[in-house]
Amino acid sequence: MSRAARVGVMGGTFDPIHLGHLVAASEVSYRFALDRVMFVPTGRPWQKREVSAAEHRVAMTELAVRDDPRFAVSRVDVDREGPTYTVDTLRDLRAEVGDDVELFFITGADALGAILTWRDPAEVLRLAHLIGVTRPGHELADPGLPEGSVSLVEVPAMAISSTDLRARVASGAPVRYLVPTSVEHYVHEHGLYRAAS
Ligand code: ATP
Ligand code: MG
Repeated sequence: MSRAARVGVMGGTFDPIHLGHLVAASEVSYRFALDRVMFVPTGRPWQKREVSAAEHRVAMTELAVRDDPRFAVSRVDVDREGPTYTVDTLRDLRAEVGDDVELFFITGADALGAILTWRDPAEVLRLAHLIGVTRPGHELADPGLPEGSVSLVEVPAMAISSTDLRARVASGAPVRYLVPTSVEHYVHEHGLYRAAS
């Protein structure tokens, strides 16, 4: 019998998705021989500012992964009521893919540091192996998780954040080469992140 499928999970606000997200997912996919990476836009993030409408963030994420057969988008978080917790994301995905699939939850160095503040971290670690990836400006370190539950991976450094991209659009600075061209066009067509909106 063939080995169990290995599926990466990349959660994020993706407001907007950028090359930092895509490079991280691609590198982890290669290093861990993943069959697929699911990008999961958050519903209402529990720790965050107001964000763009879920449908805009899903649409941009779909455009960004469209040409890569390793990548797909899941709506589990945007379709669930209430704030998004990673433990719910993983439970819903686990129910979808069944017990034979190994899940790998990918998170940047900034978010990894906060994992112990997440809801039910023990259950998160039971549901998925955690992969922390390097991110410029953040120290990548195991925040004291049980032995063997987390892997730290160096990915090509992309000093890009959605926060900076939103500020760039608001001030008229370029986002070209920082986001996929399709996402750049979407942002402009829909007037996202303009100062007044
Ligand atoms: P924001 O500035 O709005 O928080 P962001 O750029 O941090 O946006 P998120 O949607 O918050 O993007 O991030 C989703 C996931 O991707 C998180 O685990 C985050 O750590 C990781 N990530 C984001 N940008 C990078 C990057 N440039 N390199 C590596 N990982 C990243
Ligand atoms: Mg972030």
